[in-house]
Amino acid sequence: MSRELRNFVAGRWVGSGRTFDKTSPFDGARVAVVHEASADLVDEAVNCGHDVSIGSDASLWGDLPMRQRLAVIHDLADRLKARAGDLVEAEVADTGRSYWQASIFDGARSARLFRIFADAAASLENRSMRFSGEMEFEGMWYTTRRPKGVIACICPWNVPLLMACMKVAPVLVMGNSAVLKPSEETPSSAAVLAEVIADSDVPDGAFSLVHGFGAGSAGEFLTAHPKVDAITFTGESGTGSAIMKAAANGLREVSLELGGKNAALVFEDARMDAVADGMARSAFFNCGQICFCTERAYVHRTRFHEFVEMMAGIANGIIIGERNHNGFSIGPLISHGHRDKVRALLDTVPAHGGEFVAGGGIPSFGDERDNGAFIQPTVAIGSPEDSPFAKQEVFDPVLHVAPFDDDEEAIALANDTRYGLAACIWTENLSRAHRVAPKVRVGHAWINSWQIRDLLSPLTCAKASGVGDQGGRLSLEFASLPQTVTARIFEEDPA
Ligand code: NAD
Repeated sequence: MSRELRNFVAGRWVGSGRTFDKTSPFDGARVAVVHEASADLVDEAVNCGHDVSIGSDASLWGDLPMRQRLAVIHDLADRLKARAGDLVEAEVADTGRSYWQASIFDGARSARLFRIFADAAASLENRSMRFSGEMEFEGMWYTTRRPKGVIACICPWNVPLLMACMKVAPVLVMGNSAVLKPSEETPSSAAVLAEVIADSDVPDGAFSLVHGFGAGSAGEFLTAHPKVDAITFTGESGTGSAIMKAAANGLREVSLELGGKNAALVFEDARMDAVADGMARSAFFNCGQICFCTERAYVHRTRFHEFVEMMAGIANGIIIGERNHNGFSIGPLISHGHRDKVRALLDTVPAHGGEFVAGGGIPSFGDERDNGAFIQPTVAIGSPEDSPFAKQEVFDPVLHVAPFDDDEEAIALANDTRYGLAACIWTENLSRAHRVAPKVRVGHAWINSWQIRDLLSPLTCAKASGVGDQGGRLSLEFASLPQTVTARIFEEDPA
């Protein structure tokens, strides 16, 4: 059943004269009619957000004592948990993933994210120091954290609800206003989140939801708005660069989490049972549409054939397009547009001397799923390191596999990319693991695992994979303005 999704601005649900259809990548059916926010509506969202965070109505939100604000956030988390079923439905409808995946990885974690950030804020200590200054002054200083103002939260489509919560939760917790712009491909779970916030005690204007696209639409209206004080964005590196340019106008702060071309290094002593489990998830989970997914595997020459055979078997055995399957399976890519891009890249593989040992094409179902955007999990060998398949981010369940002969070569192969997001190191030699990890220029290196991540741990990135750090305390720091207060301490009272 198709829903009508409006914008939520200044406590009102607002339609617009321009709508677009959101269709399901599972079977091509219409999921929603979405009202695209105009420049005027984005302007209203930002102005209202300014007022309740750092403007004339800051007593309603930005100036609330932390204790009161966190009580509102905990209540919001309870309300989100109560709507978990609707969040899961929305995520399944927009992305075509299975109920199992949406329940375990999306619905349940959204409320938890609000709680985690609220608890982290409650224990966020300030810095202070007693000092003897030059000119013989004695004094002390301490820091405080104030809301920054309006923070634009611009999200991608791959894990829409989690991305939205990871951005909106720390922004609200620290007393700012959030203006959320979900991806045009995944507007539905953001709409449920907005319904929950509308019913909560978060004051009107502290949270707005604006729907639309990037350039020439809600995304650009937001990033160009002079009263947006900071932008937190996750998406492609090219979009991140455009947003950084927009933010330079007015010198606004940005946090950019961008693309990757992540490598796994499988050394000769790796435990293949653990590698099999980890690599199945890291290459194929969420149909390869997780920023941390592995797209390149470099394997010690002595284990290369064993690894290739194992990964081909895993890829060929993956269940595809079973929304009610209770376990690991994959759904479709997010859209036909994305699949067209992926296919164009896969088509280059044989032309550059590569060979598919699994997948490489589109599955056929003989039912309505043939109208969807499905793709086969793919493993390819023989592609040169400078070929488009080995170099460009595919964001698809694909794995490029190549052999290496020693640690130095493995490290060089992993680093031979413009990205620097994540890497996996598979070895039983822990000294080697800790020697290699710092040499791979990425924000997050996993040893003998993938994506086991404490949500409080720093989410950092190198090279074209991003700017600024997020995760736990770092997200709270990004979402607040530090101030230093310095006081002089006189040696004696006045006579
Ligand atoms: P995208 O850059 O196309 O779009 C992301 C968001 O930005 C969307 O909401 C879009 O409407 C908006 N947007 C596009 N152009 C804009 C502009 N000029 N101004 C303002 N907003 C604009 O990315 P996507 O296709 O939605 O997501 C896939 C990408 O996201 C992949 O590259 C993936 O690696 C990356 N990603 C990175 C991380 C990470 O943590 N590093 C996490 C998830 C996804």
